[in-house]
Amino acid sequence: MGQDASRRANQGGRTLYDKVWDAHVVRSYDDGTDLIYIDRHLVHEISSPQAFSGLDMADRPLRRPNAHLAVADHAVPTHSRHLPLPPGQAARQVERLIGNTRKHGIRYIPMNDPRHGIVHVIGPELGFTLPGATLVCGDSHTSTHGAFGALAFGIGSSECECVFATQTLRLRRQKRMRVTVKGALKPGVAVKDVMLALIARIGVGGGVGHAIEFAGPAISAMAMEGRMTLCNMAIEAGARVGMIAPDKVTYDWVFARPLAPQGDNEAAARYAWRALASDADAVFDREVTLDASEIAPQVSWGTTPAETLPVTATIPDPASESDPVRRARMASSLAYMGLRPGMALRDIAIDHVFIGSCTNGRLDDLRGAARIVEGRRVAPGVSAIVVPGSASVRLAAEAEGLHRVFTEAGFEWRAAGCSMCVAMNGDSLKPGERCASTSNRNFEGRQGQGGRTHLMSPEMAAAAAITGRMTDVREMMR
Ligand code: SF4
Repeated sequence: MGQDASRRANQGGRTLYDKVWDAHVVRSYDDGTDLIYIDRHLVHEISSPQAFSGLDMADRPLRRPNAHLAVADHAVPTHSRHLPLPPGQAARQVERLIGNTRKHGIRYIPMNDPRHGIVHVIGPELGFTLPGATLVCGDSHTSTHGAFGALAFGIGSSECECVFATQTLRLRRQKRMRVTVKGALKPGVAVKDVMLALIARIGVGGGVGHAIEFAGPAISAMAMEGRMTLCNMAIEAGARVGMIAPDKVTYDWVFARPLAPQGDNEAAARYAWRALASDADAVFDREVTLDASEIAPQVSWGTTPAETLPVTATIPDPASESDPVRRARMASSLAYMGLRPGMALRDIAIDHVFIGSCTNGRLDDLRGAARIVEGRRVAPGVSAIVVPGSASVRLAAEAEGLHRVFTEAGFEWRAAGCSMCVAMNGDSLKPGERCASTSNRNFEGRQGQGGRTHLMSPEMAAAAAITGRMTDVREMMR
């Protein structure tokens, strides 16, 4: 433990974040940074080529090949998966990943393997993600893994190279923010709504420089899938890290996974993980409290996740905003989104529905959407796809018959991958097209140049598919 870590440890009252951080300090520096040991690294086809090239140019070996796990997810198509990839960029990216992982002795999960899927879905599924671990990936939504009490965050290509070569990163400790969610979610309100409501309240910069810990009765009541949805979007509030203290829900998930500790190691792990929760007297730099029972289903109307409102609201008027910067920002969002102030959100018609992504592509998400879709039909003119987050989610959903619910309603049922979350795999919007999406980003062009993204929960996206417009899912609940 380094000097700074020792000082903090002696002060008592440590947070979950500090406990995991302190346990991984290799050495501390006078400038306030620490060298942190990285336990695990998830690798995918987009962010890794430069890192592998850097290693090769310096002729450096990997420090610990079994600490890495690789899968191709961003660029791979989610249809015609049984066919070889057509010649092009995706094929080259996947080939390169296969070559690099072979050369360096890294585990690679092939595209047709039953363990394949989005990197942030398969890590937890396999038990590669563990409480108390440090975990990184060249993707900002690595915060997802914090749902297990891991200190997990996205890194850039040069940091990937550093982790490959040294298994460490030199980092500065973040401030700590606690988001306490009290009360219980009302029917028709999903975890995604909690996160969108939080971002609408604190802004996309609200978490900058902080590690967020989610706590409170509403969090304890959430399944692991919901906890992952929350932590996944911590980065959309500006926080690189989102964490939840491990509890029985976490252990039940983790110890059912193939890579989880077993035998004596399981007992030791349980003992160590129980001590990770923030101490009762831990001090946070910022505290935010939400009441889950006051949250309604949410829909984003603009081009940041903070531009979100309850589905019952109307589009805000930039003219009523006194801050000129915010006024200009709102006007720009409305122009891109093709919306007028004063319009009811429920009057907005959609062209596409995308249910999937590392935010909402898990089994619970598909179950929630299927409950709304069952016995109904997708509205004429709407194209709707369901893309499970992993092959394992897909199989489990099929075992429950969810694929039939979706296909009988007129949805396409796809293979696992990032799909329409990011316009780099053949699934994208055309200019001006509007999508009800369960993904995490609604920036300009995120789903295709000129495409208009409205973020919402799987249940809300399912309701939009049926009616062809933004819909309050509570009106469709049976
Ligand atoms: S689903 Fe979207 S956010 Fe998640 S890893 Fe893929 S591209 Fe990134």
